[in-house]
Amino acid sequence: MELYSGYINKLIDELAALPGIGSKSAQRLAFHLINMPKDRVDHLANVMMEAKANVRYCRECFTLTDAEVCPVCANARRNHRVIMVVENARDLAAYEKTGKYEGVYHVLHGAISPMLGIGPKDIKLAELMKRLEGDVDEVIIATNSSLEGETTAMYISKLIKPTGIRVTRIASGVPVGGDLEYIDEVTLLRALEGRVEI
Ligand code: ZN
Repeated sequence: MELYSGYINKLIDELAALPGIGSKSAQRLAFHLINMPKDRVDHLANVMMEAKANVRYCRECFTLTDAEVCPVCANARRNHRVIMVVENARDLAAYEKTGKYEGVYHVLHGAISPMLGIGPKDIKLAELMKRLEGDVDEVIIATNSSLEGETTAMYISKLIKPTGIRVTRIASGVPVGGDLEYIDEVTLLRALEGRVEI
C-alpha cells in the first residue's frame, strides 16, 4: 500500500534525488510545497525554469553567468595575467567573498578522478590551455585538497610547466578533503598568500 498519493511520492522522489537532501528532508519539503499558496509554487517553478534557460558559461573563465562574459572577466581593473584555477563556481564565489583577490579565474567544472572515470577531457582543461596562449604571468591552482583535487593540480602543473608560465598551488592548511566553499575567508586568504611554486 502506498503511504502517500502518487503525486506526492513522485515529488518526494525528485527532491530526494537532489544533492544533500535525504528522504526525511525530501518528505518535509514535499509537504511544505503542497501547503504553499499556488502562486508561490508557480513563482518557484518559474524561477527554476528561468535560471535553467538563462544561465550559461562565461566565454572566458567558464563560470556560470547571465551574460556572455562574467562580471570578473569583464572588469578591466582585474589582473587578467593571473588566473586562479578552481573546481567549480562555488569555489570562485568563496574567493570573491574575500574581496582581496585581484586576478581572474578559470572554472574546471570538476576534478580528475580515475575512480569515477573522470579524465582530463571531462573538465575544462583544454579551454584553460587555450587561454594560456595569451599573456599570462601566473596560474594559481586552487583545486580542493582532496585526492581528486591534488591529482588535478599535479596534472595541470605538468601540462603548463613547458610553457614557462609560473604555476603555483595554494598552501595546504586548507583541511584535507575540505570543500573550498566551506572554508572561512581568513583561511582562504592565508592559503592564497602562502602559495608555493610547483
Ligand atoms: Zn568569466
